Amino acid sequence: MRVLARFLMGVSDARQFPALDLPEIAFLGRSNVGKSSVINSLVGNKIARTSSTPGRTRNINFFEIRWAGKPKPELVFADLPGYGFAKLSREISQQWPTFIDPYLKDRSTLALCLVLVDCNVPPQESDQQLTTFLRSAGRPFIVVATKSDKLSGNQLTNSLRTLTQQFPETRVVPYSAKTGAGHDDLWREIRGAALTTAEVRALRPAGGGDLRTGSAPS
Ligand code: GDP
Repeated sequence: MRVLARFLMGVSDARQFPALDLPEIAFLGRSNVGKSSVINSLVGNKIARTSSTPGRTRNINFFEIRWAGKPKPELVFADLPGYGFAKLSREISQQWPTFIDPYLKDRSTLALCLVLVDCNVPPQESDQQLTTFLRSAGRPFIVVATKSDKLSGNQLTNSLRTLTQQFPETRVVPYSAKTGAGHDDLWREIRGAALTTAEVRALRPAGGGDLRTGSAPS
Protein backbone atom coordinates (compact mmCIF):
# COMPACT_ATOMS: atom_id res chain seq x y z
CA MET A 1 0.00 0.00 0.00
CA ARG A 2 1.24 3.48 -0.83
CA VAL A 3 2.40 5.55 2.10
CA LEU A 4 1.95 9.29 2.43
CA ALA A 5 4.31 11.05 4.80
CA ARG A 6 4.17 14.63 6.03
CA PHE A 7 6.74 16.51 8.09
CA LEU A 8 5.10 17.71 11.30
CA MET A 9 7.78 19.49 13.28
CA GLY A 10 11.34 19.46 14.53
CA VAL A 11 11.70 19.69 18.28
CA SER A 12 14.62 20.30 20.60
CA ASP A 13 12.69 20.88 23.80
CA ALA A 14 10.61 18.35 25.73
CA ARG A 15 7.84 20.93 26.16
CA GLN A 16 7.26 21.09 22.41
CA PHE A 17 6.54 17.43 21.66
CA PRO A 18 3.45 17.11 19.47
CA ALA A 19 0.25 16.21 21.29
CA LEU A 20 -0.87 13.37 19.08
CA ASP A 21 -2.82 10.29 19.91
CA LEU A 22 -1.01 8.12 17.36
CA PRO A 23 1.46 5.29 17.90
CA GLU A 24 5.03 6.45 17.31
CA ILE A 25 8.04 4.67 15.89
CA ALA A 26 11.45 6.08 16.89
CA PHE A 27 14.47 5.76 14.61
CA LEU A 28 17.81 5.73 16.41
CA GLY A 29 21.36 5.11 15.33
CA ARG A 30 24.85 6.50 14.99
CA SER A 31 25.46 9.26 12.46
CA ASN A 32 25.86 7.89 8.94
CA VAL A 33 24.25 4.54 9.82
CA GLY A 34 21.74 5.11 7.01
CA LYS A 35 18.84 6.33 9.14
CA SER A 36 17.54 8.93 6.69
CA SER A 37 17.85 6.42 3.87
CA VAL A 38 15.81 3.84 5.80
CA ILE A 39 13.05 6.37 6.55
CA ASN A 40 13.00 7.61 2.95
CA SER A 41 12.88 4.08 1.56
CA LEU A 42 10.08 3.02 3.95
CA VAL A 43 7.86 5.88 2.83
CA GLY A 44 9.05 5.94 -0.78
CA ASN A 45 9.85 9.62 -0.58
CA LYS A 46 12.80 11.80 0.43
CA ILE A 47 11.28 13.26 3.57
CA ALA A 48 14.27 12.77 5.86
CA ARG A 49 17.53 14.59 5.26
CA THR A 50 20.53 12.53 4.31
CA SER A 51 24.06 12.99 5.61
CA SER A 52 24.99 14.93 2.52
CA THR A 53 22.46 17.61 3.44
CA PRO A 54 24.31 20.56 4.98
CA GLY A 55 23.09 22.07 8.24
CA ARG A 56 21.59 18.84 9.49
CA THR A 57 19.57 19.65 12.59
CA ARG A 58 19.90 18.15 16.02
CA ASN A 59 16.15 17.94 16.49
CA ILE A 60 13.73 15.12 16.92
CA ASN A 61 11.86 15.34 13.62
CA PHE A 62 8.27 14.09 13.60
CA PHE A 63 6.53 12.78 10.47
CA GLU A 64 2.88 11.82 10.15
CA ILE A 65 2.28 8.61 8.21
CA ARG A 66 -0.94 7.86 6.34
CA TRP A 67 -1.93 5.10 3.91
CA ALA A 68 -3.14 6.38 0.54
CA GLY A 69 -6.94 6.26 0.42
CA LYS A 70 -7.33 6.37 4.21
CA PRO A 71 -8.73 9.59 5.67
CA LYS A 72 -6.59 9.82 8.79
CA PRO A 73 -2.89 9.36 9.62
CA GLU A 74 -2.18 6.10 11.43
CA LEU A 75 1.22 6.58 12.97
CA VAL A 76 4.11 8.92 13.51
CA PHE A 77 7.77 8.43 12.72
CA ALA A 78 10.19 10.16 15.09
CA ASP A 79 13.65 10.66 13.60
CA LEU A 80 16.06 11.16 16.49
CA PRO A 81 19.45 12.88 16.14
CA GLY A 82 22.23 10.50 15.18
CA TYR A 83 24.73 9.99 17.92
CA GLY A 84 28.42 10.43 17.27
CA PHE A 85 31.22 8.01 16.77
CA ALA A 86 32.46 8.96 20.21
CA LYS A 87 30.94 7.22 23.16
CA LEU A 88 27.23 7.74 23.57
CA SER A 89 27.86 8.74 27.17
CA ARG A 90 29.27 12.06 25.98
CA GLU A 91 26.11 12.76 24.01
CA ILE A 92 24.00 11.65 26.94
CA SER A 93 25.73 14.13 29.21
CA GLN A 94 25.04 17.01 26.81
CA GLN A 95 21.94 16.73 24.69
CA TRP A 96 20.13 13.65 25.86
CA PRO A 97 18.92 14.76 29.30
CA THR A 98 17.14 17.81 27.91
CA PHE A 99 14.81 16.20 25.40
CA ILE A 100 15.87 12.83 24.00
CA ASP A 101 16.01 11.11 27.34
CA PRO A 102 12.54 12.40 28.37
CA TYR A 103 11.19 11.45 24.97
CA LEU A 104 12.43 7.86 25.22
CA LYS A 105 11.49 7.50 28.88
CA ASP A 106 8.12 9.22 29.07
CA ARG A 107 6.47 9.35 25.66
CA SER A 108 3.28 7.39 26.19
CA THR A 109 2.61 6.91 22.48
CA LEU A 110 6.04 5.43 21.69
CA ALA A 111 5.28 1.99 20.27
CA LEU A 112 8.67 0.77 19.10
CA CYS A 113 12.29 1.91 18.87
CA LEU A 114 14.26 0.92 15.80
CA VAL A 115 17.95 0.74 16.65
CA LEU A 116 19.83 1.02 13.38
CA VAL A 117 23.22 -0.66 13.23
CA ASP A 118 25.47 -0.77 10.16
CA CYS A 119 26.06 -4.47 9.53
CA ASN A 120 29.34 -3.64 7.70
CA VAL A 121 31.12 -2.41 10.79
CA PRO A 122 32.06 -4.30 13.96
CA PRO A 123 29.77 -4.00 17.00
CA GLN A 124 30.02 -0.56 18.61
CA GLU A 125 29.90 0.23 22.29
CA SER A 126 27.58 3.21 21.72
CA ASP A 127 24.91 0.91 20.26
CA GLN A 128 25.25 -1.36 23.28
CA GLN A 129 24.88 1.64 25.58
CA LEU A 130 21.75 2.72 23.75
CA THR A 131 20.07 -0.69 24.00
CA THR A 132 21.00 -0.90 27.69
CA PHE A 133 19.32 2.48 28.15
CA LEU A 134 16.19 1.36 26.26
CA ARG A 135 15.98 -1.83 28.27
CA SER A 136 16.24 0.07 31.54
CA ALA A 137 13.52 2.46 30.31
CA GLY A 138 11.33 -0.57 29.48
CA ARG A 139 11.12 0.37 25.80
CA PRO A 140 10.55 -2.34 23.18
CA PHE A 141 13.13 -2.19 20.42
CA ILE A 142 14.39 -4.14 17.44
CA VAL A 143 17.72 -3.92 15.65
CA VAL A 144 17.76 -2.96 11.96
CA ALA A 145 20.97 -4.09 10.26
CA THR A 146 21.48 -1.41 7.61
CA LYS A 147 23.32 -1.44 4.25
CA SER A 148 22.92 -5.21 3.94
CA ASP A 149 23.50 -4.97 0.16
CA LYS A 150 27.18 -4.25 0.78
CA LEU A 151 27.81 -7.77 2.10
CA SER A 152 27.83 -11.09 0.24
CA GLY A 153 25.49 -13.86 1.40
CA ASN A 154 28.07 -15.48 3.71
CA GLN A 155 29.33 -12.19 5.08
CA LEU A 156 25.78 -11.09 5.83
CA THR A 157 25.00 -14.37 7.60
CA ASN A 158 28.08 -13.91 9.78
CA SER A 159 27.30 -10.27 10.48
CA LEU A 160 23.70 -11.10 11.47
CA ARG A 161 24.96 -13.89 13.72
CA THR A 162 27.28 -11.42 15.47
CA LEU A 163 24.45 -8.93 15.90
CA THR A 164 22.15 -11.62 17.26
CA GLN A 165 24.83 -12.49 19.81
CA GLN A 166 25.32 -8.85 20.70
CA PHE A 167 21.58 -8.20 21.06
CA PRO A 168 20.26 -11.61 22.13
CA GLU A 169 16.84 -10.52 23.38
CA THR A 170 15.58 -8.87 20.26
CA ARG A 171 14.92 -9.41 16.58
CA VAL A 172 17.49 -8.33 14.01
CA VAL A 173 16.04 -7.26 10.66
CA PRO A 174 18.50 -6.91 7.76
CA TYR A 175 17.71 -3.90 5.58
CA SER A 176 18.97 -2.25 2.42
CA ALA A 177 17.66 1.15 1.41
CA LYS A 178 19.45 0.58 -1.88
CA THR A 179 17.77 -2.68 -2.94
CA GLY A 180 14.66 -2.56 -0.75
CA ALA A 181 15.61 -5.82 0.99
CA GLY A 182 13.85 -6.08 4.35
CA HIS A 183 11.29 -3.41 3.44
CA ASP A 184 8.26 -5.67 3.96
CA ASP A 185 9.71 -7.29 7.11
CA LEU A 186 10.35 -3.91 8.71
CA TRP A 187 6.90 -2.60 7.83
CA ARG A 188 5.42 -5.76 9.39
CA GLU A 189 7.29 -5.03 12.65
CA ILE A 190 6.22 -1.38 12.59
CA ARG A 191 2.56 -2.08 11.88
CA GLY A 192 2.43 -4.88 14.45
CA ALA A 193 3.83 -2.62 17.18
CA ALA A 194 1.62 0.30 16.16
CA LEU A 195 -1.49 -1.85 16.19
CA THR A 196 -0.71 -3.24 19.64
CA THR A 197 -0.14 0.24 21.05
CA ALA A 198 -3.30 1.61 19.41
CA GLU A 199 -5.34 -1.27 20.86
CA VAL A 200 -3.91 -0.83 24.35
CA ARG A 201 -4.63 2.90 24.24
CA ALA A 202 -8.18 2.29 22.96
CA LEU A 203 -8.86 0.21 26.09
CA ARG A 204 -7.91 3.08 28.39
CA PRO A 205 -10.60 5.37 29.75
CA ALA A 206 -10.96 8.67 27.89
CA GLY A 207 -8.44 11.21 29.04
CA GLY A 208 -6.48 8.51 30.82
CA GLY A 209 -3.33 8.92 28.80
CA ASP A 210 -0.85 11.74 28.91
CA LEU A 211 -0.29 12.51 25.26
CA ARG A 212 1.62 15.67 25.80
CA THR A 213 4.38 14.02 27.79
CA GLY A 214 6.21 17.24 28.30
CA SER A 215 7.38 16.07 31.69
CA ALA A 216 10.65 17.39 33.01
CA PRO A 217 13.77 15.24 32.85
CA SER A 218 14.18 13.13 35.95
P1 GDP B 1 22.21 8.98 8.37
O1 GDP B 1 23.28 9.95 8.72
O2 GDP B 1 22.15 7.87 9.38
O3 GDP B 1 20.87 9.60 8.13
O4 GDP B 1 22.67 8.23 7.03
P2 GDP B 1 22.25 8.45 5.51
O5 GDP B 1 20.92 7.87 5.22
O6 GDP B 1 22.46 9.87 5.14
O7 GDP B 1 23.32 7.51 4.77
C1 GDP B 1 24.71 7.63 5.02
C2 GDP B 1 25.47 7.11 3.80
O8 GDP B 1 25.24 5.72 3.66
C3 GDP B 1 25.06 7.76 2.50
O9 GDP B 1 26.18 7.92 1.70
C4 GDP B 1 24.10 6.75 1.89
O10 GDP B 1 24.08 6.80 0.47
C5 GDP B 1 24.68 5.43 2.37
N1 GDP B 1 23.65 4.40 2.52
C6 GDP B 1 22.53 4.52 3.26
N2 GDP B 1 21.78 3.39 3.18
C7 GDP B 1 22.45 2.56 2.34
C8 GDP B 1 22.18 1.23 1.86
O11 GDP B 1 21.17 0.58 2.17
N3 GDP B 1 23.14 0.68 1.04
C9 GDP B 1 24.27 1.34 0.69
N4 GDP B 1 25.12 0.68 -0.13
N5 GDP B 1 24.54 2.59 1.12
C10 GDP B 1 23.65 3.20 1.93
